[in-house]
Amino acid sequence: MRRFILIAALLIVGALAALGWFRRDDIALSLLRRTADANIARNELTALPDGLHAAFCGTGSPMPDRQRAGPCLAVVAGQRLFVFDAGGGASETLTQMGLPPGAIERVFLTHFHSDHIDDLGALALQRWAGGGATTPMTVAGPPGVERVVAGFNEAYAIDATYRVGHHGADIVAPSGAGLIAAPFAFAEGTDRIVVLDDGGVTITAFVVDHGPVKPAVGYRIDYRGRSVVVSGDTVPTPSLDREAKGADLLVMEALSVRLVSELEAAAARAGRAKVAQIMEDIQNYHTTPADAAEIAQRAGAKALALTHVVPPLPSPVFDGLFLGDAKTKFAGPLWVMRDGDLVSLPAGGGMEKKRLLRR
Ligand SMILES: [Zn+2]
Ligand SMILES: [Zn+2]
Repeated sequence: MRRFILIAALLIVGALAALGWFRRDDIALSLLRRTADANIARNELTALPDGLHAAFCGTGSPMPDRQRAGPCLAVVAGQRLFVFDAGGGASETLTQMGLPPGAIERVFLTHFHSDHIDDLGALALQRWAGGGATTPMTVAGPPGVERVVAGFNEAYAIDATYRVGHHGADIVAPSGAGLIAAPFAFAEGTDRIVVLDDGGVTITAFVVDHGPVKPAVGYRIDYRGRSVVVSGDTVPTPSLDREAKGADLLVMEALSVRLVSELEAAAARAGRAKVAQIMEDIQNYHTTPADAAEIAQRAGAKALALTHVVPPLPSPVFDGLFLGDAKTKFAGPLWVMRDGDLVSLPAGGGMEKKRLLRR
């Protein structure tokens, strides 16, 4: 009904404009001002109720996909904003979801595959020049994060001088430029470590199996009795079962072997043997939707969100093909996530899924 009213209103406005009663540019300018006011004033961080919230700022993979940014999950705990991975396009999606990059307290990386780190530079820039941050963006991760951070700092060093030179140090504080690494390491014989524990928020990193990619970790976030577990990239592994135990929301990467096999066959038919081989190789270090459902069921997770969707799905029409028989293996809600989705876990209990991005 709302859509009908909107279409009717647009038709009337269009007809009036055609009759010359309004000038098209005046209407456009008025729309632009309203949109700018709404977007610049928007801050979902302060609008969300106390609790734990998982905001999907990137649900894609390295495969080209205009509908999905690279891997990115923003977790809001109370009023604090943490980001897990920053794939290509993530900072743009985060901003369009009304979550201000300037508020990012810390970024956590699961591993250093390019699709998980591509947008770190843009995210740090948005946090600093766009968001007014006066300290560098802290990026936590296993050993290796120092090199990644150093590389981005070097790549953006010249740009930082332009920003300060043009706007002045009062507007863009030089102290806020760039990134700072916060590496963590697992003690001998252990595969989990608490990497943040203050103000009621606990974040635990745990080793997963994305071999030959090492190190690779997942994270568990606990706040006021609610919990979110982020798998990172991994095959099913006992540490994931352990950490996902009783989680309110399990966020799992997922790859459909069946659909990737179709891409492999297409590449072979096109005579692109190397692409076909890559499609073959990637099938052995990810989790299928059915595997993810079994993990969630074994762990007693309350809900399962599939992300890092491989291969790209042009529309939700393909979700069924992607999922295969996964829904028969998990008793709770199981979603194929899209950029802009939010799953809220209020401190008092309950769960709500909604959209922060309209497209
Ligand atoms: Zn990976
Ligand atoms: Zn990945």
